[in-house]
Amino acid sequence: MRLANLEGRAVLVLEPGAPDGTGARGVDLHAASDGALGPDPATVYERWDALRAWYAAAADGLVADLDIDPERLGAPSPRPPQALALGFNYAEHARETGFEAPTELPPVFPKFASSITGPRGIVDLPEGGTTDWEVEVVAVIGRTARRVTPAQAWDHVAGLCVGQDLSERTRQFAGPAPQFGLAKSHPGFSPMGPWLVTPDELADPDDLALGCAIDGEVVQDGRTGLLLFSVPRAIAALSEVITLLPGDVVFTGTPDGVGVGREPQRFLRSGETLRTWVEGIGEMVHTLR
Ligand code: ZN
Repeated sequence: MRLANLEGRAVLVLEPGAPDGTGARGVDLHAASDGALGPDPATVYERWDALRAWYAAAADGLVADLDIDPERLGAPSPRPPQALALGFNYAEHARETGFEAPTELPPVFPKFASSITGPRGIVDLPEGGTTDWEVEVVAVIGRTARRVTPAQAWDHVAGLCVGQDLSERTRQFAGPAPQFGLAKSHPGFSPMGPWLVTPDELADPDDLALGCAIDGEVVQDGRTGLLLFSVPRAIAALSEVITLLPGDVVFTGTPDGVGVGREPQRFLRSGETLRTWVEGIGEMVHTLR
């Protein structure tokens, strides 16, 4: 199942169209379920089991009657109770930024909710000129998770979407302690999309190609199979400390290829286009300004 947020309404994507979402078609969840589910995409995760059960029975009879313009898509979970992110969760990315690859749970920081946006649009660059890119797979929680094991963790994930953990590096590394949460939460710094894809739709949800390109030049090209803490291991470890809630989003970390790790360093510039993708899910396109 693919679930999108089309201008604030939950929509099932029945025909995903081109890789960038052009030509996608689907149905409005609230209308298709005779008012039983939706329409608010922020609250569908609170009734995720009911949604999955309804979809299992109804899927074969659904007919796409809605054009889905990717420009009108919002984040699949637009108001998560909690938005978490993992740092240094790929060994090569830890190395390129001068850190040891973590052996315990990598550093966890918040992405403040006001930074969340959808898979298209303009991102305003803060002053300073050191905004960096970080493609990431984002896991959306579908069931309350407290002290779950890695083997149980996928059952608590509603699905995955594409994410960018945009990062303003000067503030991030200034001061006596790193400012991860703040430096990664400027408006538009947590785009997600184009829609949520349930794990059963993916050939191997634990090994997906992911990457991003600036004006067509590929700058990151990785695989989630190289995550130090895989999605289920990360969910299990986080749930040992906190309670993960339906609708929560977890940015799982970025592979190598970020700008701050380059020689010379490179950062996003006004006028550039950032395309971000994950295999089997789709892609996002943002313009920097
Ligand atoms: Zn990140």
